[in-house]
Amino acid sequence: MPLSQGRAYLAIPGPSVIPDTVLRAMHRASPNIYEGELHELTHSLIPDLKNIAMTDSNVAIYIGNGHAAWEAALANTISAGDTVLVLATGRFCIGWGEMAAGLGATVETIDYGSHAPIDLAQVEEVLAQDKEGRIKAVLAVHVDTSTSVKNDIAGLRAVMDSTGHPALLMADCIASLACDRFEMDAWGVDVMVSACQKGLMTPAGLSFVWFNAKADAARGDRVTAYWDWRPRANPEMYFQYFDGTAPTHHLYGLRAAIDMIKAEGLDTVFDRHAKLAQIIWAALDHWGTTGPMQFNIADPVHRSHAVTSIGIGSPNGDALRNWCEHQCGLTLGIGLGRSPADAYFRIGHMGHVNAHMIMGVLGTIDAGLKALKIPHGDGALSAAAQALALRV
Ligand SMILES: *Cc1c(COP(=O)(O)O)cnc(C)c1O
Repeated sequence: MPLSQGRAYLAIPGPSVIPDTVLRAMHRASPNIYEGELHELTHSLIPDLKNIAMTDSNVAIYIGNGHAAWEAALANTISAGDTVLVLATGRFCIGWGEMAAGLGATVETIDYGSHAPIDLAQVEEVLAQDKEGRIKAVLAVHVDTSTSVKNDIAGLRAVMDSTGHPALLMADCIASLACDRFEMDAWGVDVMVSACQKGLMTPAGLSFVWFNAKADAARGDRVTAYWDWRPRANPEMYFQYFDGTAPTHHLYGLRAAIDMIKAEGLDTVFDRHAKLAQIIWAALDHWGTTGPMQFNIADPVHRSHAVTSIGIGSPNGDALRNWCEHQCGLTLGIGLGRSPADAYFRIGHMGHVNAHMIMGVLGTIDAGLKALKIPHGDGALSAAAQALALRV
């Protein structure tokens, strides 16, 4: 008999769990869009969005998902025929590169596969060889959600600087913002993209591009009126924030979500994600001692604190996901972009997540392994409890 009735947990790497506070903030009549509270609320989001990205530069809001922010970032910076260097550590950076190609860029990809971070020494070599400065922008994903790898973005800036290469550094923080520490200005990032449905805990529909003066000056020939980040970042009239009707309810939701982050404190938010990730890792260390389960990313330094990709052998990934969802009301992430996809699953642990939710996820997975007779090491739940007890 399924035991799935009750509050469901969508433990996938986006969309993430929406806090009741955010849902309540959105449950209202449409506000006046011409003046008043909504205008004040929108203005108030701008400094907070900059603080979360740790930047003093600009931010433009788009009504769209992460793909919209990808396109906006590229449309404002590249011209047809420009070369962009894509540093692929999973499906997402490849997707961003495909979008650049669609806009007319020449895309050079270094593919590090599905189990490894960017090799900075190799990037340094490629940039050093580009004496004539063909490469206009370097595209990197901070946390690639398909592999759960975390890349060293500050290190990437360091190798770009050491070669004196003028390319823009563009980072995708869609999965990592407000989960894994990211410091746009200190790390020398020129353009950063994110969206609201992951660490920012708001229903999908808003995305953001942060950009500095260097990126703005790089302006290419692909920009169109709607994607132009200039009026959005420096609106003379309110409607220019969105180039049309404001996404009213999303703004109320985002305001509430950011207030939650401010109340907890950004450093505490990072710390909570780090500790919850370590509890998951403690369990997987034990599950993996026998049988097929293994970390997709072996080195803990390069593992995200927002999502964990786990190899489990085909078709166990799908079998486990189905069991957890239908028997227990827990939805796990698919083996997105992997081959075979059913040899992997992912746990999303981003945003509005606490220790008892993570213990519930781990307990449910442990039960699923037993029900499905997927071989696994003993002691995972005890190790997770121990990790939790030591860390709070
Ligand atoms: C989720 C995600 C995207 C895509 O965002 P959408 O909102 O689905 O368009 C891109 N990059 C990363 C790293 C992501 O996690």
